Amino acid sequence: MTNVFLGIGGNLGDRRATMRRAVAEIRAVVEDVRVSSLYETAAWGVTDQPSFLNAVVRGRTELKALELLEAMQAIENQLGRVRTQHWGPRAIDIDILLYGSDVIDVPRLKVPHPYMAQRGFVLRPLADLAAGLTLPDGSLVGELLTTIDQDDLRQVEGLGWAD
Ligand code: ADP
Ligand code: MG
Repeated sequence: MTNVFLGIGGNLGDRRATMRRAVAEIRAVVEDVRVSSLYETAAWGVTDQPSFLNAVVRGRTELKALELLEAMQAIENQLGRVRTQHWGPRAIDIDILLYGSDVIDVPRLKVPHPYMAQRGFVLRPLADLAAGLTLPDGSLVGELLTTIDQDDLRQVEGLGWAD
């Protein structure tokens, strides 16, 4: 079993319903799931689009990393994701943030997720679940969080929203 952290987010349609459905689907392949508070963030990268809801899911899985990626992409497809522009609007995006302490760098999968250390909408929910976690490069989640701008980030639901 490997400890994994997944970042989930979306900015189209009924965002809360889609986030809840994503967590429910994740529970089918990830055990001992725990879910962060729910956050709203202004869109990142391409800013002319609705704001995002974001959260982080923690759990354990028997799946290998690429199998986990495929399972998460199947959930994205099932929940109606239409791939248009990169960083553009989507009903749901599920990223593998961490897969144990593995460093993975193949074309389909980069872990730790390349931008996670700069993104408040990843670090803040990650810190809800694991502020004391050390990333493979030795950095501490709780310390990284103090280095980034959280002005665009707002908690909209506390723990338990996805139960
Ligand atoms: P983004 O998440 O950066 O907004 P996409 O969700 O469209 O972009 O992902 C594009 C590709 O990123 C996927 O097809 C997947 O193969 C690749 N990818 C690389 N690393 C990861 C990761 N850690 N988690 C999820 N997808 C990843
Ligand atoms: Mg993605």
